[in-house]
Amino acid sequence: MAKSIDAALSDTSFFGDVCQFFDHAAQFTSHPEGLLDQIRSCNSVYRFRFPIRRGNGFEVIDAWRVEHSHHKSPTKGGIRYSEMVNEDEVMALAALMTYKCAIVNVPFGGAKGGIKINPKEYTVAELENITRRYTVELIKKNFIGPGIDVPAPDYGSGEREMSWIADTYQTMNPGQLDALGCVTGKPLALHGIAGRKEATGRGVALAIRECVGVAEDMKKLGLEAGLSGKRVIVQGMGNVGYYTIKYLTEFGATIVGICEYEGAIYSSEGFDLDEVFNHRKTTGSILGFSKTQKEFKNSAEGLEQECDILVPAALENQLTEHNVANIKAKIVAEAANGPTTPDAAYALIDRGCILIPDMYCNAGGVTVSYFEWLKNLSHVAFGRMDKRYEENANLNLVNMVEKSTGVILDAAQRSMIIKGASELELVNSGLEDTMIRSYHEIREIKLGNSRIDSLRTAAFVSSINKVAVSYMNMGIWP
Ligand code: NAD
Repeated sequence: MAKSIDAALSDTSFFGDVCQFFDHAAQFTSHPEGLLDQIRSCNSVYRFRFPIRRGNGFEVIDAWRVEHSHHKSPTKGGIRYSEMVNEDEVMALAALMTYKCAIVNVPFGGAKGGIKINPKEYTVAELENITRRYTVELIKKNFIGPGIDVPAPDYGSGEREMSWIADTYQTMNPGQLDALGCVTGKPLALHGIAGRKEATGRGVALAIRECVGVAEDMKKLGLEAGLSGKRVIVQGMGNVGYYTIKYLTEFGATIVGICEYEGAIYSSEGFDLDEVFNHRKTTGSILGFSKTQKEFKNSAEGLEQECDILVPAALENQLTEHNVANIKAKIVAEAANGPTTPDAAYALIDRGCILIPDMYCNAGGVTVSYFEWLKNLSHVAFGRMDKRYEENANLNLVNMVEKSTGVILDAAQRSMIIKGASELELVNSGLEDTMIRSYHEIREIKLGNSRIDSLRTAAFVSSINKVAVSYMNMGIWP
């Protein structure tokens, strides 16, 4: 298969890596090269600069918004606040968003934003100023709106930044009824949705649970089915890493290692998330935690310790040709975007490791963002209309069953059966269903063709086919 111009130009780039995975998977589809080119390339790349006042002077900030694919509207993707961010990275992350949305059947095209700053070096007032100005620049070029392009949090940003974006957009679009659907990941009080903050990490834990639940796949790795007792190392204790650890622990796994940028800790006994989190909050470092058996000043060493499952949940390019030989995990769950380079991915797969690909593994965030967007467009919280109705109907049923059978339930049993679903329960149920279905969809594609070497290739095949169908249905390709 001929390589795309983008891929050929940027063989060493993150976008080049994504194109390389794409091209590898495209050989298992039957679409014409022109259509594949359309799917692979980034449709719109907006690069801009704006000044902010800082101290007695000014500073010029570099920023991007990339809309990778318009096969569905709006486009969707987080905004990364990082001094490492560049155009290639934003393009790669936007492309991954397209494939991610397709895999979990979320009807958006992919997009991504980037602001080249280290947020830790700015005051809250400066960050607010930068975020509001970034939003204004997007509004000026029609790069944001509930039906156009809908940002969300990513590395270095969270609910607070999303609130500033929502408020700026609303102020600039007075009277626009759906204005709050211009961004997701907002706090609950500003029309966010219950469960969004923890959604990506919860989704990662569900993805891992689904993977280790397949006994025949685990047997090939020499592991028992199920999460109970599985030893896990997680890199990054930010939003995604924190909630991944929380839910994996709830599902029965043992967190034996945690890596942060200042170092890594390891204990075969397992860590209590809140104890480690509070230690880091108090001392400013993960190192020095009293219940640690080993600690590493070089954080990357933490990835190479004994475990069953490794979860990179921080940044891209963490598993590379330089360290892949030392990785002991039999399952790598890509919670971060692009943590494994193509060379490292092929090495892991060659040795029989299961790699749960980022585009599926961390899709919980965009799934719940989709629910938030739906809530904003419908202007009503999930469960508000039917919760009480459901409870009354259940109550009538319980009363009738008790009367006709003579069996009387205790108060706890009654309330468990009668209770209507809250917004959080509905969100979690939708998320769980999405993660379970999508895992088996990808796995079935892999099983269906012995030449498809990995879940990542299967995931790409699935999303290329779905995006291609959208273009063909639009009449763009016959
Ligand atoms: P975050 O900023 O909340 O957390 C990142 C964490 O990684 C921080 O604690 C940081 O200190 C740590 N870190 C940075 N460099 C490190 C290093 N070299 N070694 C170990 N730890 C390091 O970001 P996040 O929202 O948790 O995002 C993490 C990853 O997940 C990113 O790749 C992001 O694109 C991806 N992701 C996030 C979401 C989301 O909803 N937040 C959704 C999908 C994918």
